[in-house]
Amino acid sequence: MTERIDGHTILIGLMAYPIRHSMSPTMHNNAFAKLGLNYAYLAFEVTNETLPAAIQSIRTLDMRGSNISMPNKQKVIPLLDKLDPAAKMIGAVNTIVNDDGILTGYTTDGIGFMKSLDDEGLDIRGHKMTLAGAGGAGTAIAVQAALDGVSEMSIFNRHDESWENAKRNVALLNEKTNCKATLHELENRDDLKAEIADSFIYTDATGVGMKPLENETLVTDPSWFRKDLIVFDTVYAPRTTKLMQVAEQAGVAHIFNGLGMMLEQGAAAFKLWTGKEMPVDYIRDILF
Ligand code: NAD
Repeated sequence: MTERIDGHTILIGLMAYPIRHSMSPTMHNNAFAKLGLNYAYLAFEVTNETLPAAIQSIRTLDMRGSNISMPNKQKVIPLLDKLDPAAKMIGAVNTIVNDDGILTGYTTDGIGFMKSLDDEGLDIRGHKMTLAGAGGAGTAIAVQAALDGVSEMSIFNRHDESWENAKRNVALLNEKTNCKATLHELENRDDLKAEIADSFIYTDATGVGMKPLENETLVTDPSWFRKDLIVFDTVYAPRTTKLMQVAEQAGVAHIFNGLGMMLEQGAAAFKLWTGKEMPVDYIRDILF
C-alpha cells in the first residue's frame, strides 16, 4: 500500500455505519494494487446525521466516488445531482461517481446478481423467476432482472414491513418494464410450490439461511425443485445454506450462494470509478 500512495493517489470511500467489518476495502485496494492503479479505498463511519457533510466532502476533496451502505442507501438520494435510471427505480444507491463535482448515484447489487449468472454461462433473460424477498437486495434484483429482460416474475413476501415494498416492486415492474410481475404471499406454501415449478430460476433474497436463521430455509422439500431449475441464495455466510442443501438433495445442477453477486457488485462499482475490469478471480482467491 505504501508503495502505491503518493501525491496523486485518488480517494474512494465507503460511507456507512457500522462498517469496520466490511470486506470492500480489502477487495478494492487489492484490485487497485493488482492493476497498478493509483487509487485508495477507505471506510468511513457515516450516519444519517453526518451524511450531508460526508457527501459534500466527495466534491470538496475531489474524491472519485464512494460506496454507500446502511443506513444511508436511501437518505443519500436527495444529496446527489443525478441518478442512474435503475437506482431511481430501486430507490436506493450503493455507489456514487464524482465527475467534476457532479455526483451520480448507482445501484450495483442487481448488476452483480445478473453478472454472477452470466459468469456461469446462465442467461435468465426471456425466462420466469420466482423471487422471495422485497427488501434492499430483493428490490435491486427484481428491478435489474426486469430491465435486463427477465420476462415474468413472481414476487413473494411475508406480511411484514416489506410487504408494501413488494407491492410497489410489482407495480413498478408492470408499469416501467416489459416484465410481467405478480405479487404472492409467502405464507401460501401451495402457491410458492406452484410458482417455483413454473420458473426457470428460484431466488431467495430474504436472508433466511443466514445467522441467526442459519438452520432455516423457506423450501424444505427437495421435490419442489427440478434438476434443471437454477437455485440462487443471496446469502454468502455460510457458504452452503440450508436452501442450497435442499437443492443439492434434489440434484439441482446450478446452485448459487451470494458470493459471486457480492464480488460482481463490487466489480461493477470498480468499473464505474476506474473504467477497468476488476480481476474478480484474483480477488475471490484473496477474500475466500
Ligand atoms: P432487508 O432487511 O432489506 O430485506 C429482507 C427481506 O427478507 C424482506 O423482504 C423481508 O420481508 C424478508 N424476510 C426477512 N426475514 C424473513 C423470514 N424469517 N422469513 C421470510 N422472509 C423474511 O435485507 P436485504 O438487505 O435485502 O438482505 C437480504 C439478504 O440478501 C441478506 O441475507 C443479505 O446478506 C443478502 N445480500 C446479499 C448481497 C450479495 O451481494 N450477495 C447483497 C445484498 C444483500
